[in-house]
Amino acid sequence: FDWSNVGDAVMLYSVTAVTVFMLANDMRHLLSRYNSEYRKAKASEDEIFRLANHDTLTGLPNLFMAEKKYRDEHSMPGSPKCTLFMIGLDNFKTVNDSLGHVFGDSVLKTIAERLSGMLTEGCFVFRIAGDVFGVMTTNAVTPDDVANAAEAMRKKISEPLGSGHQFILLTCSIGAAIREDASFTFERLRREADIAMNKAKNSGRNVFKLYDETMSSHTIASVSMAAKLKAAIDKHEFSLFFQPKIELETGRIKGAEALLRWFPEGEKPVRPDIFIPVAESTGMIVEIGEWVIREACMQCKRIQDLGAKDFSIAVNISAVQFKRGNLEQIVLDALYVSGLDSHCLELELTESLLLEDEYDIKGQISRLAAKGISFSVDDFGKGYSNLGNLSKFDVATLKIDQSFVFAMFDTPQNAALVEAIVRMAKALGLKIVAEGVETQRAANVLGLLGVDSGQGYYWSKPLPIDDFIDFTGIGKVNTTALRA
Ligand code: C2E
Ligand code: CA
Ligand code: CA
Repeated sequence: FDWSNVGDAVMLYSVTAVTVFMLANDMRHLLSRYNSEYRKAKASEDEIFRLANHDTLTGLPNLFMAEKKYRDEHSMPGSPKCTLFMIGLDNFKTVNDSLGHVFGDSVLKTIAERLSGMLTEGCFVFRIAGDVFGVMTTNAVTPDDVANAAEAMRKKISEPLGSGHQFILLTCSIGAAIREDASFTFERLRREADIAMNKAKNSGRNVFKLYDETMSSHTIASVSMAAKLKAAIDKHEFSLFFQPKIELETGRIKGAEALLRWFPEGEKPVRPDIFIPVAESTGMIVEIGEWVIREACMQCKRIQDLGAKDFSIAVNISAVQFKRGNLEQIVLDALYVSGLDSHCLELELTESLLLEDEYDIKGQISRLAAKGISFSVDDFGKGYSNLGNLSKFDVATLKIDQSFVFAMFDTPQNAALVEAIVRMAKALGLKIVAEGVETQRAANVLGLLGVDSGQGYYWSKPLPIDDFIDFTGIGKVNTTALRA
């Protein structure tokens, strides 16, 4: 022991202690920096996962995530059955085009919220792309349950959107496919649900279709149908049927809607909702439509000549006819040849046509309207509806879609919706026709609500011309007020 060594030792220990302290401090800093870097890396990894698996706009899982879920939970031989619903918004493009992308985005978010709000255990909601959403569920795997689930979704989505006078009605077309066994890949289930959804869109939208194998064969069938349609005019296989339009206040028949029928030689009749989309997609509707306009004008004149002087005829016109055909000339020629007064011809068009920027639709309508022809908007409320937009066109009549009339007695909200449409249409000076009137009760209620005319099975189904004339009694009694 030496006191001089003690000083050295203390010095040495002190230096060592300070060094250790500094080192430990550095380590601590290093560790905390490491922790914070780790947390950041983890957060960005989670963010990357979220971005890769979710849709940024609605926050819903995306298709990639849905496929992963299907592979993890439904692809094994013993996995529970499941159903894939594909929900496509009708005419969503027109919402974006007419009301802007910001409004369009908020609509998509609302739809995502509505679907998520319906989530139950075993149910997975995702966004497939653009205006198409998906729902995968193990809760509805029988055709009946699937149909009920689809109906619930359809109703929820079709509730009015927006607020105040800027409310819009947006419907959807739903397709579904059921995973029957382990041989179903996600790709197959998705393709089948997609075919079913397109089928729903083609059969007039706002409906649900469950996939069945005949749907794939229909795609092939439509190619051969197009070839048959081409020859159908020359072979006189088309015929026009007439459905009366009744003035609700008086019960008088004011006119009729001409509805096309196709009776292919040696085969069963084909429904218009099957062959018209084919005729539209091939452009053949221009030629077929020309025949319809001419025939409708001639038959209307014939009815007038039998004594019903003010009788008017309504003809359905496809958007394709406005875009591709020489509609103005065709209509004027048909009036000239038949001798029908232009005030007795009404053309029915769909609302989505009025949202087209090209083809001078507004001009075509106003030029024809200036000559006395009137226009009505068919299937109002189906797809995308905006009453405000109608006022910009020379449109005189609004035809409320039959789905509203059918649903009117389901809930007080549905009845209130019809009432609101009638009120707003009246404020715009439009006449209102209700379609799909099947009961006296519906006819009475619609009359009380202020609807001007009705059309539906309650009075008559569409009839061949001779049966129609018999039904109305035109020519037998000396009056245009007919049985109703
Ligand atoms: P739309 O113009 O909405 O015609 C009304 C449809 O509802 C008709 O079906 C009619 O038969 C049916 N209907 C009428 N009253 C009732 C009812 O009380 N209950 C029910 N459940 N249905 C009723 P249809 O004749 O099968 O025509 C289907 C669609 O085909 C028409 O729907 C229209 O969009 C199209 N279409 C028919 N003829 C023509 C045409 O000449 N040209 C064009 N472009 N499309 C046409
Ligand atoms: Ca119509
Ligand atoms: Ca209609």
